[in-house]
Amino acid sequence: MTVSTKPPQPRAAGQAVMPDTTVKGGPARTTVQSGRSAPRRVTPRRTVGAPLYTALPGVRDLLPRDAAWWHAADTAIAAVAELHQCLHIDPPPLEPIEVYEAAFATEEVPYVIRTKSMRLVPQLDPRVAVLRSVLEHHVSGAASPLKLWYASSHIGQSTSDGLPLSATRVRGLEFIGDADPLYDGEAIAAAADIFRSLKVPDLRLVINTIGCRVCRTSYQQRLGAYYRGVRAKLCRNCVGRLDTAPLALLGCVGESCRELREHAPILLDYLCQNCNNHFRSVLEFVEENGILYEPNPYLIGPASYHTRTVFMFVSDLAAHTVGPPDRTVARAGTPSPAMSSRRKDPEPVRDGLPLAAGGRYDYLGEALRMRQIPAVGVTIYLEPLITLLRAENIITPSSARPAVFFVAIGDQARKSSLRLMQLLRAGGIPVAESVGKKSLLAQLRVAEKLKSTIALLYGQREAFEGTVIMRDLKTSAQETILITNLVSEIKKRFKS
Ligand SMILES: [Zn+2]
Ligand SMILES: [Zn+2]
Repeated sequence: MTVSTKPPQPRAAGQAVMPDTTVKGGPARTTVQSGRSAPRRVTPRRTVGAPLYTALPGVRDLLPRDAAWWHAADTAIAAVAELHQCLHIDPPPLEPIEVYEAAFATEEVPYVIRTKSMRLVPQLDPRVAVLRSVLEHHVSGAASPLKLWYASSHIGQSTSDGLPLSATRVRGLEFIGDADPLYDGEAIAAAADIFRSLKVPDLRLVINTIGCRVCRTSYQQRLGAYYRGVRAKLCRNCVGRLDTAPLALLGCVGESCRELREHAPILLDYLCQNCNNHFRSVLEFVEENGILYEPNPYLIGPASYHTRTVFMFVSDLAAHTVGPPDRTVARAGTPSPAMSSRRKDPEPVRDGLPLAAGGRYDYLGEALRMRQIPAVGVTIYLEPLITLLRAENIITPSSARPAVFFVAIGDQARKSSLRLMQLLRAGGIPVAESVGKKSLLAQLRVAEKLKSTIALLYGQREAFEGTVIMRDLKTSAQETILITNLVSEIKKRFKS
């Protein structure tokens, strides 16, 4: 299998790149392509002392040191999802290209995996995969709308620093089957609850409406006419999309484009009565729930399937802690901060890093199944959230349950040590060990590093007698315990 991405991209000297994963003699040749560029192998560049392979820039490894915070975030998200009675769903990592072609309408699907017989797309937008899944399997809940939540990772295209792609982890809540603005309010309130339970400070809700098919079409015509009048002052990128996606010009960060935007017509002035009423109701629900919001007429959805409400939760503290937002981050309703595959400019939201974004997508069901299914959802961006929680020490994750440290000395004891440790684990007791080390001292040093409080010493004599020595590692007090009583004795010890 040859994996290649849109090359060539500038990279720092000595920076390792994605490994060539060619498997010789594989059953089928599969190529992952970015856009229309030709597949290309990437040869790693060696630098003395540097690791040969590193993660792609824009793709973050979540490491054990992050685990406490990411589990805290996941726990908070799952708890809120349960409070809203959301059902759990798991979108698959691949979809047939037709799904995304339908969802993105006229926009090009940026990544395609070509096999001999199929064209597949890696996870680009879990919301699309979730809705496809719901429609295919006629998923329904006892109540309407259908409420779902999921965890996903997916690939995105980033324009910042010339990176070819990025990947990010998200958690999403989707309310499918009802156009009532109450559910826009509920999606916003759910995200606010998650951040509140994680004690995320300095959070702002930025919100806008992008209207419906009817009012947006006439607005786009007005907007297009305005921008055509000032075409000469637009950046090259904006000139290129002026005729196909005039709304996207509102998100351009180019200096002259931002100045021009000041005089551009805004959609709020062109909303139809229905959209106007809908937006007003959403804002009322938001206000009633005590959530402060900041209207931003330039906030737009990332994809053609978005309609009416779009919003983002932005943390000013995160911008300070995590650094400036990725150039593709600030786009309301994007499935991921770094993934906007179709529009590549950030939303003109003042400083702050998006921790969540969402919006209504009443047309997506129609694109996938020729049936209008109103829906609204919110996406939580896990990586910036974890970084913020960790860097600011906003929450103190509960420490893991203490583990006993199992020490086995001698071949006889080592032989039955796994059976004994499994006995403890079956009794619900976490067990750490380093029985690969021969000496008692070496094993106890590991126990000390792990800050274990109880060690179980198991040698040849104990194996013969069916006992274990329990040593308190703080006081060095020891007692001999029958293996048959081991689990209950340790549980007693942890309770006291
Ligand atoms: Zn409308
Ligand atoms: Zn521009």
